[in-house]
Amino acid sequence: MLKKSLIILLALSFSLPVSETWSADGDEFRTLRNNMVREIFADVQLTRLKTRKNTLDRKVMKAMGEIPRHLFVPKKQRGYAYENRPLSIGYGQTISQPYIVALMTDLLQPDEQDIVLEIGTGSGYQAAVLAGLVKRVYTIEIVDALGKAAGNRLTSLGYDNITTRIGDGYYGWKEHAPFDTIIVTAAAGSIPPPLIRQLKPGGRMVIPVGGAFLTQQLILIEKDLDEKIKTRQILPVRFVPLTRSRTTD
Ligand code: SAH
Repeated sequence: MLKKSLIILLALSFSLPVSETWSADGDEFRTLRNNMVREIFADVQLTRLKTRKNTLDRKVMKAMGEIPRHLFVPKKQRGYAYENRPLSIGYGQTISQPYIVALMTDLLQPDEQDIVLEIGTGSGYQAAVLAGLVKRVYTIEIVDALGKAAGNRLTSLGYDNITTRIGDGYYGWKEHAPFDTIIVTAAAGSIPPPLIRQLKPGGRMVIPVGGAFLTQQLILIEKDLDEKIKTRQILPVRFVPLTRSRTTD
């Protein structure tokens, strides 16, 4: 009898939706986040021959262990927020896989004096990861509803060094250029020339390049002090496409 009720009790507790079993008191999320960080470490090891990295910057990993990713995904996705994979954020768009966010952030070699441009705000998560590591983040989103939601989310979470804008990021953000680093989180068919122009000499840019919905290559671009451009393929990746506005802005 006792055994039977124990089984029923166990079955009941496992059948509760994840969101109801979480007290959302932060600690449970911390454990999940720590697990996510361990998975990122494992992916870094698996890809080290391609990326030429045995480890990522400790500051970057610390940020990954602190930013509350569950607050950047739709409520129904919260139970999956700390899985090391991309998740849908609506409008056909995704929040990137945590390992890729960590790798791209590391490739930028963020410095606390840096002014950074991000193309593809999405949920605002990547901008939040960067915000703790650099001086200011400017981020552009083309989907009006996503850009507005991310702007509100970042403000309500207290990020005061992120400036959001709705628009076509292909053109960059001339008023605040040049940038120390640029991160593009949607796949472009080729590297947008305005972004190269808006990169500081000595600056770095990471961008997935390749056909829409195919595997793309994550490219690291370095502009040296003589404005010479050097590019390096880092890893095959899969991003949603960089779309273009019909009207230029
Ligand atoms: N960095 C995001 C994930 C981005 S997904 C995050 O951390 O959540 C890619 C985003 O790029 C999508 O939200 C998509 O709408 C946006 N995007 C696509 N083309 C764009 C363009 N030309 N300019 C600005 N944003 C664009």
